[in-house]
Amino acid sequence: MPDRMVDEEEFARDEEKDAGASMDGQRRFKDFDCPDCNANNPYDESFGDGEEVRCFYCGQEFVAQVSDEGKLKLKSS
Ligand SMILES: [Zn+2]
Repeated sequence: MPDRMVDEEEFARDEEKDAGASMDGQRRFKDFDCPDCNANNPYDESFGDGEEVRCFYCGQEFVAQVSDEGKLKLKSS
């Protein structure tokens, strides 16, 4: 039945929309690589967008920025 084909197409489109509206921007991280000294810093307490982290090796502080794609960026504070 042609009607059913249309229904399936609409269902697939809805699923795509849901995937696009994921929570990646709210992703939290449990470690980071220091942009200054490249040391890997494990964090017991996870951190997310807008939170400050400090490198345990060189002492530099950064502000975490999580993009919509869920990628972590660190800006010197
Ligand atoms: Zn460092």
